[in-house]
Amino acid sequence: MSCTKCGGQGFIESFKKLPDGELAPTIYRDPCECLLYKQLDEQADRTWQGLSRVPVEDNRGMFKEYLKQSLYLTSDLKSLALTLRGALWAKGNPNFISKVVDENMLMSVWLSGMHEEGKKVIDPDFDYSVPARDILGFNGPDLLIIRLGIKNSRNIATPEVLVDVLENRRGLFKPTWVVDSQDKPFRMGHISWSTDGERILKDFEHIDLTSVLPTAVVNTTPSLSLPKKPTSSGIQKTGTRATFNLK
Ligand SMILES: [Zn+2]
Repeated sequence: MSCTKCGGQGFIESFKKLPDGELAPTIYRDPCECLLYKQLDEQADRTWQGLSRVPVEDNRGMFKEYLKQSLYLTSDLKSLALTLRGALWAKGNPNFISKVVDENMLMSVWLSGMHEEGKKVIDPDFDYSVPARDILGFNGPDLLIIRLGIKNSRNIATPEVLVDVLENRRGLFKPTWVVDSQDKPFRMGHISWSTDGERILKDFEHIDLTSVLPTAVVNTTPSLSLPKKPTSSGIQKTGTRATFNLK
């Protein structure tokens, strides 16, 4: 199925009239809205694999303003996915680079550096498939979202790596969202907790997504703040509930 407006080309051709009323020989190609939707879906999947399958909800669009600032979020997986999806969609800028990571990814990158240096890596969550990159790679995204409480095994360096990443990004004036959950709150005893980490998060606005937007709203039919997608388009979002299993 292709877009009814552009026939799937991604642009709409038009001719402009010359002052004498004749059509100019130049064909103008204006990007079709379906192209933007496709790019926003691709952006969603680059941010978080599978995020493009999450429905866009109107009431999450207000979170687009928060894409510019650091946040300490408490959220379940579904609320986070819906919020991020709605915020990115409302922002409508496919060039905005956001990335969701978790403690395992932070540690794998950090530990792979050690691994490269020939040191023995004893963290059982270490993922050898993550290519060795400098921890500074986490400075790249315009918005980095760090999900906490994913890592199972305790590694003494985890809190330090988290603080390093947060400090690095703060120094670059780039926002970071740190996400914990109600069942694993970021406080003493949490696998990533440290006094330094807590001190940094104190400067972040704290939002509990599960209380701000009760799960009941998940059932609302998504309507888009952008122009409506043509119904015959193959990329039409349906009102189906999110089936979103990342882990
Ligand atoms: Zn189109």
